[in-house]
Amino acid sequence: MRTLVTGGAGFLGSHLCERLLNDGHEVICLDNFFSGRRANVRHLIGNSNFEIVRHDIVEPILLEVDRIYHLACPASPVHYQYNPVKTIKTSVMGSINMLGLAKRVHARILLTSTSEVYGDPEQHPQTESYWGHVNPIGVRSCYDEGKRVAECLMMDYHRQNNVDVKIVRIFNTYGPRMAISDGRVVSNFCVAALKGEKLPIYGDGQQTRSFAFVSDIIDAIMRMMDSEEGFTGPVNIGNPDEFTILDLAKLAMEFAGAAADIEFLPPRPDDPIRRRPDIALARRVLGWEPRTKLREGLKITMDHFRRELGLAGR
Ligand code: NAD
Ligand code: UDP
Repeated sequence: MRTLVTGGAGFLGSHLCERLLNDGHEVICLDNFFSGRRANVRHLIGNSNFEIVRHDIVEPILLEVDRIYHLACPASPVHYQYNPVKTIKTSVMGSINMLGLAKRVHARILLTSTSEVYGDPEQHPQTESYWGHVNPIGVRSCYDEGKRVAECLMMDYHRQNNVDVKIVRIFNTYGPRMAISDGRVVSNFCVAALKGEKLPIYGDGQQTRSFAFVSDIIDAIMRMMDSEEGFTGPVNIGNPDEFTILDLAKLAMEFAGAAADIEFLPPRPDDPIRRRPDIALARRVLGWEPRTKLREGLKITMDHFRRELGLAGR
């Protein structure tokens, strides 16, 4: 099986490439290295089944593949708001290019959509049937609306051209290979706590997220790709254990073992107040549920950042 992973040098993509190679796939990792790093896949270079292509999916590409995991898109608010026009081009034009490729070579294609399609949700927890509450003109829209259009394109190529599509909606995920400069909350808190700096909390810290460990999410993505033909999703994948951002900060300080403190900063615009996945569909159709508790996953992630910061052994 020849498999294309767009965004393969990113946080999730690099773990996915590794798992696919372990399962005997031939893997083409395609990335423009905007938020991904060569270092994430360096250990895979030299494997004869692995190939890296530097390419921007906003431009078309011709490849012969059987399956496409379509992940390419910056996911951290800091990264996707850096060049919002490019972010939405990546989701819209990039998805059209990948769907065109899937159509031409009859490949199955899976989109990693996001819980952000629910915006600041008025339904809690969020089920796949909820249509969401997204600000179409806010600073997060380039990402949220981009992913909503990408989902729409997936379903239209499926209905109009019979493309074999799969959609997963991923909730906040963390783990090793997150970059120090990633900008998302888990990496920011781990790095600040280890350095003995103040952990920045936007707002009062009472907003919630449900954090899933990377290996659980990769497992769910691969199960979805292998699910029965004709089952398109979308399927929520995430860990339903919900935490306030203040809880997370306290946990990070406990595990870092350094003297750190919290700094309260003004809230970010359009920051969703609550987020928790309903994963009944994933349980039923994929036979999947997350196994890693936050305390366990955060310890592993803290060790990763200790190594990244050169603090290992202390
Ligand atoms: P990431 O930023 O680490 O990875 C994204 C990768 O895509 C990077 O390697 C980046 O260089 C690449 N990329 C971006 N624009 C590109 C372009 N135009 N052409 C080619 N490559 C491009 O983020 P991640 O956390 O690994 O997220 C991967 C996917 O999962 C994204 O689609 C994201 O929306 C989705 N997702 C992630 C989470 C999460 O919590 N990690 C949650 C929901 C959805
Ligand atoms: N957050 C925070 N400090 C940080 C980064 C994020 O308090 O250094 C908060 C942010 O305001 C949001 C939550 O943590 O409420 C999750 O933010 P993140 O950027 O990780 O992802 P989001 O789920 O908002 O896309």
